[in-house]
Amino acid sequence: QADSKSAKIFVTGHRGMVGSALVRRLQRGGYTNIVTAGRTELDLLDQRAVQAWLAREQPDYIFIAAAKVGGIQANNVYRADFLYQNLMIEANLIHGAHLAGVQRLMFLGSSCIYPKLAPQPLREDYLLTGPLEPTNEPYAIAKIAGIKLCEAYNAQYGRQYISVMPTNLYGPNDNYDLASSHVLPALIRKAHEAKLRGDSEYVVWGSGTPMREFLYVDDLADACVFLAERGYDGPLVNIGTGTDVSIRELAETTMAVIGFAGRIVFDASKPDGTPRKLMDVSRLTGLGWTASTPLRAGIALAYQDFLARRAPA
Ligand code: GDP
Repeated sequence: QADSKSAKIFVTGHRGMVGSALVRRLQRGGYTNIVTAGRTELDLLDQRAVQAWLAREQPDYIFIAAAKVGGIQANNVYRADFLYQNLMIEANLIHGAHLAGVQRLMFLGSSCIYPKLAPQPLREDYLLTGPLEPTNEPYAIAKIAGIKLCEAYNAQYGRQYISVMPTNLYGPNDNYDLASSHVLPALIRKAHEAKLRGDSEYVVWGSGTPMREFLYVDDLADACVFLAERGYDGPLVNIGTGTDVSIRELAETTMAVIGFAGRIVFDASKPDGTPRKLMDVSRLTGLGWTASTPLRAGIALAYQDFLARRAPA
């Protein structure tokens, strides 16, 4: 009954980029009973605490947007943290939801669950057909386990736990820490700072040849709420735009939006990661949803948010 505006909807990870976009979207959609829990109030790694919280709060619907996330370097370096924390968060929430009698939830994963060398675009049924990209294998394994948990609770207990796999996301509330961020926030910050300093060079990791697809996070939130309201309870669904760009093109577009004209220098000491991960979004478009924010416009919106957050108080 996520379609009722008074349904109690628990958004986990509400301080993050995805969770905060979900809360914005739900508020705009007229939902009046959105619940959240900060880290001090509820530690999602703590099984007993999660079970007690869910038993007490009895949400009608849960969005599992809480996760330990990061870019290629963070995923590659903090391998144990990414695997352990993501397994615990999703296991605690999914099993806890079942124990509390929560019939419907949405688990958010990532396009990195697909095999490194899977055919492109990535169809949902390519899951588990080949080896993963090593730099983010721990995160991917955790997310695959989450998908399988949802499927298992559906099969064994008749739950309606659905999994959605967003492509690379960006937008308001992103992480702009250069060591742990994804590529787009890093490129925005680097272009902004290079422009302020009057640099002539712009350092981009890797070779610039990998292809990535980017979805504005408010579009993601819209797709999630669309699926929740529609009552979809089929197999996992990709969420993306269906088009991708090279990292070099992405750097050029970002520089153009920010108004920095430097020379791109590629840092070959940093990994490229998977060569391409373009989503096949026909399952989602077949249900009637398509992304609406073009990349360049989305980068401009993200840059506005970046500037607003940095503005001196
Ligand atoms: P991935 O999609 O899991 O590989 O994660 P990222 O978003 O971190 O990286 C995507 C691609 O962008 C990789 O090929 C990176 O090497 C490249 N890239 C270029 N410059 C940067 C940067 O400053 N930060 C990050 N995180 N990636 C960068």
